Amino acid sequence: MDPPSSAPATNPSESRAFQRWLKKASLVTGLGLTPEERQHYLEEQKHARCEKWKTELLNYSPSVVFMLKHLRLSGCAVPPSNIVCGSCDSTRSGGFHPSGAIVLCEGHFGSKRHMQDTLTHELIHMYDHCKFNVDWYNLRHHACSEIRANSLSGDCRFMREVGRGNVSLSKQHQACVRRRAILSVRANPKCPDGAAAERAVNEVWESCFNDTRPFDEIY
Ligand SMILES: [Zn+2]
Repeated sequence: MDPPSSAPATNPSESRAFQRWLKKASLVTGLGLTPEERQHYLEEQKHARCEKWKTELLNYSPSVVFMLKHLRLSGCAVPPSNIVCGSCDSTRSGGFHPSGAIVLCEGHFGSKRHMQDTLTHELIHMYDHCKFNVDWYNLRHHACSEIRANSLSGDCRFMREVGRGNVSLSKQHQACVRRRAILSVRANPKCPDGAAAERAVNEVWESCFNDTRPFDEIY
């Protein structure tokens, strides 16, 4: 005869399911976990989210797909395996290595949109490296690529402010690009101080801010 349906779950598969549920609940609530276990769990979650967003952006983000296409056309195709989700110090959201790799700082993104801006930014550096023979230790070279990457990536909301056929960008946009470019050049190991970073950005501003390649081709 079957036991009554209100009997406690004693069969092994139900009890395994219950154990799994308990484990999951403790992961989500943090109860019953050591701080290390909790930390490890959160890091795994961030990594998984970064990988998921990366796959979606590589396939569906207009700016990422556009940049990947132009890198391919320029002979510098970037395979997905060269774009890596990793942990970084808290000051940065992404990085680019001239050997052809991009790191996305998985702990840094509050939204997929933010990750898209960062990935597009790094792809613009990659494009500049591919097309223009950039010397990254030359502050003017670095400044030029930072101006372009910050202006064109969406870091300073370029796309919203572009008028059709006419790049009429607001003063705030320019101030944002300038500020972010100076900060990045300041972090260059060859940069002695903030004044040098500012000087480098000012010296190349006109020509680099107005150079929207490869984006000018879509308007
Ligand atoms: Zn940059």
